[in-house]
Amino acid sequence: MKIAVVEGDGIGKEVTPVARAVISRLCPDIEFFDVEVGYGRWERTGSAVSPEDISLLGTADAILFGAITTPPSPDYKSVVVQIRKALDLYANVRPVWGKKFDMLIVRENTEGLYSGIEKIEEDSACTLRCISRIGSERIARYACSLARKRRDLTLGHKANVLKSDVFFRDICIDVANREGVPYKECYIDALCLDVLQNPDRYDVIVTTNMFGDILSDVVAYLVGGLGLLPSANIGERHALFEPVHGSAPDIAGRDIANPIAALRSAALLLRHIGEPQCADLVEEAIQHVISRGIRTRDMGGNAATSVFGREVLEEVSYLLPKK
Ligand code: NAD
Repeated sequence: MKIAVVEGDGIGKEVTPVARAVISRLCPDIEFFDVEVGYGRWERTGSAVSPEDISLLGTADAILFGAITTPPSPDYKSVVVQIRKALDLYANVRPVWGKKFDMLIVRENTEGLYSGIEKIEEDSACTLRCISRIGSERIARYACSLARKRRDLTLGHKANVLKSDVFFRDICIDVANREGVPYKECYIDALCLDVLQNPDRYDVIVTTNMFGDILSDVVAYLVGGLGLLPSANIGERHALFEPVHGSAPDIAGRDIANPIAALRSAALLLRHIGEPQCADLVEEAIQHVISRGIRTRDMGGNAATSVFGREVLEEVSYLLPKK
């Protein structure tokens, strides 16, 4: 089993090694290889990612990803968006759970407003929002396959205003009806508020690319911040696991980032490669460490990233023989 590791930029370099160490402790036979892509490399070499890097990532059984800085510049293309498209990682699954709620945000990951079809002119700028039948059908099918094993499906869209969302919505409803999955629908702006006020109403939520990106940052409020939320990017042939958060330049290099999102992403990776017991053990270890009062700054504590990581690693080592 080969896992590619992209630490990326900023806190990606601090939280990814924590996640890698835990996977390595749990599955010592896994082979890791590093792929350096991102803004740091772009600053040094003028290239953030090459086709060769993407081919190399494509040879891995799974990719463990940190975060990459994307400056708001017309000359720089988001690396993670390029990787998602090139490896056709069409489903971005973001689990969010707490005391009284347990939801999965399923975001279409390859098209919509992040299609990359854009033009800036002297007095105007245009970004095309492309939504295809094939893209909508497969994300709807993917969301239904999850909802069937759970409770129900919510479609998040803005079909009252955007014709492209009328198209997306109709396809999702068609798929849900065909698959016999109960669904409801909600305008995405209203959904962003209701999901905070009544999180228990939601189970699987399917939506388009940018809406899903925003919604998953919104729901981070329910769990105490971005440092806690993992995500899986799933395609037919490849899979990439990364925290929902970005490179957090405001706290990078200070050993204060919360590594839980990265650890939970590692757990999703372990589940994906057929190690569900190891995945459960990562979560158990995180809970034990938190219950001992060890927390990073965003959770109201003062533990460093490295300290929290070391504690989880020790906890994993302690729990492992009992499994
Ligand atoms: P961000 O997620 O990096 O940070 C938002 C806020 O959350 C910041 O205040 C940050 O300190 C805090 N935060 C994030 N992760 C944390 C953690 N693990 N522990 C504690 N606090 C944490 O989002 P941003 O500031 O909008 O973006 C920063 C950079 O990251 C940008 O260049 C953006 O393009 C990039 N980004 C990359 C990805 C990715 O690689 N998938 C995703 C989102 C943003």
